[in-house]
Amino acid sequence: MSLEDEIKNLKCPYCGKAPLETTISVPIVEGKGLWHETHQRQLIGSVDCVKKMIAKEANNAKDKVNGSPSAYILSFFPPAKGMISKVKKDLDSVRKVLEEAGISELPENMKQTDIAYSLAIGMIKADGRVEQDEIDAAIEMGHKTFSDFDEQEFRKRLNSYKFLPTIQDLSLLLKILLKEEDKEALIKYLVAISASDGDIADEEVKLLKTVAACLDFTGDVSKMFPSVQ
Ligand SMILES: [Zn+2]
Repeated sequence: MSLEDEIKNLKCPYCGKAPLETTISVPIVEGKGLWHETHQRQLIGSVDCVKKMIAKEANNAKDKVNGSPSAYILSFFPPAKGMISKVKKDLDSVRKVLEEAGISELPENMKQTDIAYSLAIGMIKADGRVEQDEIDAAIEMGHKTFSDFDEQEFRKRLNSYKFLPTIQDLSLLLKILLKEEDKEALIKYLVAISASDGDIADEEVKLLKTVAACLDFTGDVSKMFPSVQ
């Protein structure tokens, strides 16, 4: 098989139709107090869709100012905008991102635990903060949920991921590869992590529902939440 071949069995997460062609890390500016923080968002998809996603992120810059003067100024010149012209077909990089995320082009090569590491870390990173409680919960629940869960491997990945797409994009990529029961096990794991501190915050409920929708999970996520005391 030539590496020039199209990526098999996976589609652009943004349109669900075009082939996966490219990936790029885009700077996102978010106002924090008087200053701002810049974090990277790894986009992966078709060339056209990734360009559109960057334009969308640049247009959304004004929604992330949060009253910060420096973020306000930058919202007129979003650094993401300059990335649009750099988007080119690059299957080698797409394969690197997929490999790091534990996603194989061949469904039979995928290991549920590899995907669990990526989704858990995607969820931990979703709010921009990596909190110790969440890491501990991901490890504790990981051992309970997956017989081959490896704490060392989880920690190694947590510290070494360079190109991990958002949990939403990962879920969109995975929806056509995973069986319904795999989706259910993975969502249950994410719910267990969220619920480990005694209750599930509204943002967590929203994120879990989004992940389930992105995965095309047909079950009822609400029923997986522990009942409110
Ligand atoms: Zn697309």
